[in-house]
Amino acid sequence: MRDPWRPAMRLALDEAERAVRGGDVPVGAVVLAPDGTAVLAAAHNEREAVGDPTAHAEVLAVRRAAARLGEWRLSGCTLVVTLEPCTMCAGAIQQSRVDRVVYGARDEKAGAVGSLWDLVRDRRLNHRPEVIEGVLADECARLLTEFFRNR
Ligand SMILES: [Zn+2]
Repeated sequence: MRDPWRPAMRLALDEAERAVRGGDVPVGAVVLAPDGTAVLAAAHNEREAVGDPTAHAEVLAVRRAAARLGEWRLSGCTLVVTLEPCTMCAGAIQQSRVDRVVYGARDEKAGAVGSLWDLVRDRRLNHRPEVIEGVLADECARLLTEFFRNR
């Protein structure tokens, strides 16, 4: 069976590669419209590029998608990201009300969507997006491994 999230993850991977040019860790994200295919926003990690500790790919993508829609609520949308979100991004995802989070590689050291924490699926929260992990996980992880090896 073909994974329907692969094309969007490829776009996120393209974004992740752009991060490297600015000296940033290669993480990329896209926000898909409720139809599941139209891309509302794309972003990559820009922490080094802009000197902003909150400039993670997910936060930037969610902000751009909201700006494009003209409202903060991203109901029905899907966030696709190459690496498991951290606590900050899991918070932004929760606040944005996206319906679904799709990620590639796990982040065993800082992941907040299944690894160290599982913030977005905490039963105490009334909005809990669906989570799909492991899409093109090897490619997503390889990009990171190569980046850190070349540093
Ligand atoms: Zn993050």
